[in-house]
Amino acid sequence: MKDLHSKSILELHDLLKKRELSSKELTLSLLDNAKSLNSEINSFITFTDDLAIKQAENADKKIANGDISELTGVPLGIKDLISTAGVKTTCGSKILSNYIPSYNATVYNKLLDKGAILLGKTNMDEFAMGSSNETSYFGVVKNPVDTSRVPGGSSGGSAAAVAAKQCPATLGSDTGGSIRQPAAFCGVVGIKPTYGRVSRYGLIAFASSLDQIGPIASNVKDCAVMLKEISGYDPKDSTSVNIDVPNYLKNIDKDSLKGLKIGVPSEYFIEGINKEVKDTIQKLLSNLSSQGAELIEISLPNTEYAVAVYYIIAPAEASSNLARFDGVKYGFRADGYEDLTDMYKRTRAEGFGKEVQRRIMLGTYVLSSGYYDAYYLKASKVRNLIKKDFTDSFKKVDVIMCPTAPTTAFKIGEKVDNPLEMYLNDIFTIPINLAGVPALSIPVGRDSNSLPIGMQIIGDFFQEEKILNIASNIETLVKF
Ligand code: GLN
Repeated sequence: MKDLHSKSILELHDLLKKRELSSKELTLSLLDNAKSLNSEINSFITFTDDLAIKQAENADKKIANGDISELTGVPLGIKDLISTAGVKTTCGSKILSNYIPSYNATVYNKLLDKGAILLGKTNMDEFAMGSSNETSYFGVVKNPVDTSRVPGGSSGGSAAAVAAKQCPATLGSDTGGSIRQPAAFCGVVGIKPTYGRVSRYGLIAFASSLDQIGPIASNVKDCAVMLKEISGYDPKDSTSVNIDVPNYLKNIDKDSLKGLKIGVPSEYFIEGINKEVKDTIQKLLSNLSSQGAELIEISLPNTEYAVAVYYIIAPAEASSNLARFDGVKYGFRADGYEDLTDMYKRTRAEGFGKEVQRRIMLGTYVLSSGYYDAYYLKASKVRNLIKKDFTDSFKKVDVIMCPTAPTTAFKIGEKVDNPLEMYLNDIFTIPINLAGVPALSIPVGRDSNSLPIGMQIIGDFFQEEKILNIASNIETLVKF
């Protein structure tokens, strides 16, 4: 069958269900295509050929018995910080370059329960620290839209794999924008769920109070399918929330934009943001207003502190989470050490890249005695104010809309030596993680270099259904 790689999850599901296509045939075809593209894009660190074929054969048996869900038999990519038993899970780092977990993350188990196929593990910034996928030990990922540019990060491999049509959907993780920003740069859809909506069990932690797993796909409906399957309470994650998960697909076409109150935050349309990005979003917003939506200017006054607060809290949590990688329990151990302390030192100096070491130092510093109150405690207080900005706004509006990132995809190498400039790329996504609310990025246009522009739709806690419905509506409106 032709063009299998261009099909969405729901289109593939239809073919599988009608038995016009077998999962094995599909898996072999996608593997072939994905591997040949990978020498250029580098979006996958590992392909799981044998496992994928075995899973596909099982899926075909399930389908033959009439046991089929939207994901049964559909090959997917999973970011390489989500634990997959028996399959290398590197976190994009030398220190875990030979690590094979002995257990599955809950999200992977959930996908397996539905009969999904693991095509492989996707490339990422080391330990999810980055906005360009240039910090991976396994090399830079290229943006399939323009291979001289970054795909965004840290889930750059997951977004690039979807954009390059290596597989219809992937899982990413988002601590400060890592699903939404690469989705925007690559012209695909990505959603960061409410903190607690999706289990983090088996996700190798970066900053535990901010991390969430979420899907990336070529369209909103496929994201809805993926999110429906990975969401839900998990007793193995103490921050997982026991609240019903709607069938996100069921009403996705029923909502209308009429009467929708859209909050437009003045702080997100400031100087410094790329003019084409700003104009595209503003044009779309006025289009939505002509469809009957009401645009309401709102203020999120603490936005200006978000990047500073994030770069205290995230490194602080990371410095603690990454303490476990010491050459004893997992992965890589350096050679030629003199004693135990020397072994720790050499392993961590050789095993972690520059950006990870920078964050560990920053985090250790802000948590150290004498500085804790001045930095960490202060940042935690401001974090609460940022959260309050959102809860106050959602008393007045249904959703908030703004650009996902201040620019389109930048050139490989352009910002890699300037961490501060790199950090500012997440200015519009970071506040959402600090608050814990859900947000989605959807492609809404292209700049004069034909690079995708993403718009972010932010919802109140556990309002994923609403933002998916609205995004699906917008998807039918925007043509570019
Ligand atoms: N780019 C941000 C950082 O480097 C966010 C990363 C993420 O969401 N994992 O921390």
